[in-house]
Formats: sequence, structure tokens, C-alpha cells
Amino acid sequence: MTSVKTPPPLSQDVDLSKTYDAVIVGSGAAGGMAAHVLTEQGMDVLMLEAGKKLPIEQELRSMQWPYDHPRRGDAPPGYHSLSFNEYTIRTPPYAKGSTFKHVMSYVGGWGGSDYVKNILVDEKDHPYTGTKYAWVRARALGGKTNIWGRLALRLSDYDFKGKTHDGYGDDWPISYADIEPYYDRVDRYLGISGVKENLPQLPDSLFQRPNKLSFGEVKLREGLKKMGRVLTPYRAGVTTDGLKHNKYRSKCYGRGACDRRPGGCDIHAAFDSPTGLIYPAMDTGHLTIRTNSIAHEVLVDPNSGKARGVAFVDSGTRKSYEAKAKVVIVGASTLESARLLLLSRSPQHPNGIGNSSGHVGHNFCEHVMGPGVTGLVKDLVGKPPTLDDGRPGGFYIPRFRNLKDRQPGFVRGYGFEGSGGFSIFPGNAFGTPGFGAQFKKDVRDHAGAFIGMGGFGEVLSRYENYVDLDPDAKDAWGIPTLRFHYQFGDNEKKMCEDMVVAGREMLEAAGIEVVGTDEKMLTEGWSIHELGTARMGSDPKASVLNQFQQSHDVKNLFVVDGSSHVSASCQNPTWTIMALAWRSCEYLAGEFKKGNL
Ligand SMILES: Cc1cc2nc3c(=O)[nH]c(=O)nc-3n(C[C@H](O)[C@H](O)[C@H](O)COP(=O)(O)OP(=O)(O)OC[C@H]3O[C@@H](n4cnc5c(N)ncnc54)[C@H](O)[C@@H]3O)c2cc1C
Ligand code: SF4
Repeated sequence: MTSVKTPPPLSQDVDLSKTYDAVIVGSGAAGGMAAHVLTEQGMDVLMLEAGKKLPIEQELRSMQWPYDHPRRGDAPPGYHSLSFNEYTIRTPPYAKGSTFKHVMSYVGGWGGSDYVKNILVDEKDHPYTGTKYAWVRARALGGKTNIWGRLALRLSDYDFKGKTHDGYGDDWPISYADIEPYYDRVDRYLGISGVKENLPQLPDSLFQRPNKLSFGEVKLREGLKKMGRVLTPYRAGVTTDGLKHNKYRSKCYGRGACDRRPGGCDIHAAFDSPTGLIYPAMDTGHLTIRTNSIAHEVLVDPNSGKARGVAFVDSGTRKSYEAKAKVVIVGASTLESARLLLLSRSPQHPNGIGNSSGHVGHNFCEHVMGPGVTGLVKDLVGKPPTLDDGRPGGFYIPRFRNLKDRQPGFVRGYGFEGSGGFSIFPGNAFGTPGFGAQFKKDVRDHAGAFIGMGGFGEVLSRYENYVDLDPDAKDAWGIPTLRFHYQFGDNEKKMCEDMVVAGREMLEAAGIEVVGTDEKMLTEGWSIHELGTARMGSDPKASVLNQFQQSHDVKNLFVVDGSSHVSASCQNPTWTIMALAWRSCEYLAGEFKKGNL
């Protein structure tokens, strides 16, 4: 049973003869935040979302037990989730020639493809080409925030001023002091749980009640203290104390469901864009939403060169429409936003709108992951079970490399995400030898004694890592697709080697036996943290947007998602996407009122 309040009706009349103050493309973290800020400022906003409005609680079914599902969570026959080997052996488009009726990204393979089969895109309809890339997309109201992992971290001046610190790449046109007040607003408005640690590389948020660490995690935290490193409870973009100002969200009851599915919380304790941002924006009376609306061009006024609206196709009827607006805000996610800008060619903007610098699609960066370690906490073997997965996450170990030290093999750093203790299914059952009563006892005795963690490292932003439009390939609606020219470099490889060494040394320092290591890097794209394809900067020749995510070329065009990030940091991006979008949209509304757009 869920305690969610009825959402506002989404079957609104959309008047396309009208000129809106602003049109927003996309309804995820970025588009949702733009809608919240602009409607609060009284602007009249139209949101175009390519995906459907799903009955999301029925999709997620967070509390359904495996035995209550006819196929233990699997999608019906005909569905297939891509495997690691498919991504590494083949090149995109990965669904080409597949005998399966529907193909989804690897996230569908995380123990519950039935719960995400309508949220993730069908790769058959949404092909892409070029170099290997595991591109995870969610086309539905709320985008990927419906199933995100909720690790909500701030960036620091080690990121914003990375070049000043180590000489690589470019500094951002803002510093931590510029964005800090907006991180604070995001924390207060959406809720975040965690513990203050006073670390310069991972600034603290305004935290609600933290998750409890399990026994093994506390042991590791204590061990790390001796090394000057920190293990902190998962900083979850989850309201653990509740939010009095939001009737659509409930506080976290620690039902453990977060660990049992590819993601999603059907009582919306975990942040998602519809309940966190969009429904409250609709309640202002200033937001109109049109779902099933695939934007394929930002339209330009031939006289002024300014944006005048967005052309889109209805995903169901395939009819074409135009939405008119005084300001256009693109928030379709890093890669889709780059695609839309590149698709928007006109005599005024022959390389795509906002692309006089030639940087749209370039400087593409993200996180590298794969290496990790597993340990056995011997004091826990044979102990009675405890409820360890009744929480929205385990722990995070913030970056400790290249802060005061200088690593010989690589610049920048990485953090570890991990967890230890009991979970719904004892994963150790697969590796335990034997059978019968002794086998069951061995599995039970060891089930809660494991602790595992995996690294997430910064992939350097490089101009030569980019996406462009494939001249031939098109999606199911006839829109040109993206072509990838992207691969990890030597810095990422060296960093991944170090993750294994450091992971092992940390478990050993805590007196935890290392029982497994993963050394392989996962395919490009695996982190689902793609960034940087329309970066901010103060030089219009070397960047696409200014510090307010406003196009250098077209003053009434803003791009408010991760495409604007100048470097990837190793910290997860969503909280920064929203803080930046808040800051930019506040600026936008001010300029709009002054008549400057
Ligand atoms: C399984 C998973 C785990 C994750 N874990 C974390 C985590 O722990 N921490 C973290 O910080 N981040 C995490 N992320 C990433 C996080 O979800 C994204 O950073 C965030 O959702 C980005 O927001 P966005 O608005 O840019 O994009 P999205 O959320 O993808 O939203 C973009 C929206 O735009 C729509 N759209 C796309 N193209 C068009 C078009 N042409 N016309 C109209 N609409 C369009 C899409 O349908 C979509 O709804 C995770 C993601 C996944 C999938
Ligand atoms: S643990 Fe909390 S955030 Fe996670 S699904 Fe349960 S109620 Fe939602």
C-alpha cells in the first residue's frame, strides 16, 4: 500500500496557438527543476516530454516480493536486456538484427526487468552508432530520476577549479561559493540524508536523518580513520524526515526495497522529478505538460536569429507540431540535448544552434567504473540475521587521491560506493560449494558477512571524445541518431588499476579479509553519468554556454542539464545538475522580467 496523494491531472489542453513565456524540453532532474523555478517566478511554461506519463507506482511495485511475481520479476518472453559481453564484443546499434521483439539496456538485467521495461527505451526504436557505449535512457515523465540510484553528492573547488589545482583541462566559470546557496535550496526543497564530515573535497549538505551503517561498514569506517580516509553513510537524495511542503512525497520507511529493484521508490521518499518538482509546479497553475512529444528542432526567428520555439513530433500519431515560446530551455539529458542542438540547423546557425564554437557534442566525459573489492567480516560469520537493506543505500568513501598528494600515474580521483550486511537474496549462494543441509547452513552462516565496494572515477574531459549526428541512421521517427566517437584513455586505465590496490589496502587495514577483486573496466557509458557536451565557459570560442547555462550565441536559449558541466568530477552529478539549473533559471527569470531576453 502506498500513501501517495493523487497527482494533478496530466490530460491538459495544450494550446499551441499561444506563445508561452518558456518551453522546456525534457522532464528529468534538469527540466523538472527549470519548471519548478520558472513557475515559482510566475512564468507561463510549457514542458515537452518525449516519453509517456506512466502509472509509476504500478510499474515500480517496490514492495512486491519475488515469489509474488509470476516470473520473479522478469519481463515477459520477447524482452531482452543487453549483457556486458554484448556491449564489449559488438558495436552499436546493439539491437540491430536481434531476434527479440524488445531490447533494453543492461539496467534491465538488474534483477527485475519487468519493473523497468516501460521506463527504459526500447533500443530497437532508439538506435545509435559509432564506438562502444552502454547508453541508458529512460523516456517517461521524470526521465531517469524514476530509477536513479539516489547518491546525492556536491562538487567542490577541487572540481570547479580543477585546472588551477593540477593544470589539466579548464576551470569552470563558477566556484563553489557561487553554487553553494543553490545546493542548500535543493537540499531543503527535496531532502537529503547523510552525516557531516567537514571534507573540502566533498562539501556537506543540509542533512536529514542518516542511514544506519551495518556492523561491517562501521568496522571499515573505523579502519579507514587510521589511514586518514572517511567512510560516510550513503548521502541519499531521499527524505528521511519528510517534507511538510510537498504533499506528493512520503518520508522513507526503510522498507529495503531500494536494494531489491533496479531502482525507484513507490512512496517517493527517494527524489523523482514528477513528485519532487513537476506536480508542485503544476499546482502553481503556470505549468502545462505535453507528453509523447519528441523535440527535433529548436526553431529560429530568421530576422533576429533568436529561438522562437520548438518543433516536435507526437510519438503516437507521428504528427508534427510547433510550440512557440519567448525562451527555450533544453534539458533533455546530456546526449539528447547535444543531439537536439546539432539537429537545429538553420542559415543563422549552420552547424546547429548555439554551436558557433564547434564545441557542441565535444568534451564529452563521465565516470569510469568496474574495479572493486569484496571482503569477508569474519566476526559476522554464523551470527543471526539483521535487517541491513532496510535503507536507501550503504556507504560512500570520498576521493582521497590527488588532493594534497600527486599520484604518478594519473590526475584527478575516484570514490567508492559500497554496502555490507544482509540483503534479500544471499549472493554468496552462487559461489558456495556443496549441497543439502550443510550447503544451506554455509550460505546462511556467511550471508550477512560480506562487504563490497566499487570505484567511480573521473573521466577526463577531452575535445576528441565527442558525439555527432550519423548521416544515415535514424530512429523510429525518422530523426537522425547520435554517432559516438568516445573511449577511455590512459589516465582512466591507470586510475582503475589504482582502485583495486587501494580497495584491497583499505579492507586489509580494517581487518577484513579480501575474498574477491574485480579488475576489469566496464564499457564506456556504464556509470550513466554522461556529461559535458555543451560546456560552460567564459570564452565563446571554446565553450557553448556562459556561467548561467545561457547560449553564447542565442541569448534566449538555455541548456540546463549535465551537458553544461566542464569536467566530470568523480562525484555523482544529479544534485549539481539541479543546483545549477536552479541558479540559471533564477537568473533567466530576472532577465526575462527586465526584458533582456
Ligand atoms: C539506474 C540509474 C542509477 C543512477 N544513479 C545515480 C546516482 O546514484 N546519483 C546520481 O547523481 N545520478 C544517478 N543517475 C543519473 C541520473 O539519473 C541523471 O543524472 C539525471 O536523471 C539527469 O537528469 P536529466 O534531466 O539531465 O536527464 P533525464 O533524467 O534522463 O531526463 C531527460 C528527459 O528528457 C526527455 N527527452 C529526451 N529527449 C527528448 C526530446 N528530444 N524531446 C523531448 N523530451 C526528450 C527524456 O524522455 C527524459 O524524460 C542514475 C541513473 C540511472 C538510470
Ligand atoms: S528504503 Fe526508503 S527510499 Fe528506498 S524504497 Fe524504501 S522507502 Fe523508498
